[in-house]
Amino acid sequence: MIQADRVVTSTCPYCGVGCQVDLYVKQEMIYRVDGRFDNDVNRGALCVKGRFGYDYVHAPDRLTTPLIKDGDGRFQPAGWAEALDLVADRLLAIRDQYGPDSIAILTSAKCTNEENYLLQKLARAVIGTNNVDHCARL
Ligand code: SF4
Repeated sequence: MIQADRVVTSTCPYCGVGCQVDLYVKQEMIYRVDGRFDNDVNRGALCVKGRFGYDYVHAPDRLTTPLIKDGDGRFQPAGWAEALDLVADRLLAIRDQYGPDSIAILTSAKCTNEENYLLQKLARAVIGTNNVDHCARL
């Protein structure tokens, strides 16, 4: 049996159930995932995504920084402040030119409840649209 360098307790990133996991790490790579028993959410159980879906963590093509297209249409790495300013400017310009209902906000079960709350606030109170949906509504 492989001896882990460390075991990291975390929350499964895939859905709002929030199963508790132990991530076994060797040489900075997750090689095993166990469900934790010491909680009332999953009591040691994990679905297939929570058990095996961690290859994206070490994927070589994983995005680790925002990308903004340059004048030639090629993506260039950017800082978060620059990227968020650009998104805010574009959203406001679209709202002003085409109206608030030309924009929709789609949220994710990977977000926390608090993040989902803030996104619907952004849609309704800042942009002025009720076009808000969530992938878990199906
Ligand atoms: S293990 Fe499955 S059910 Fe539990 S949080 Fe992850 S995706 Fe959701």
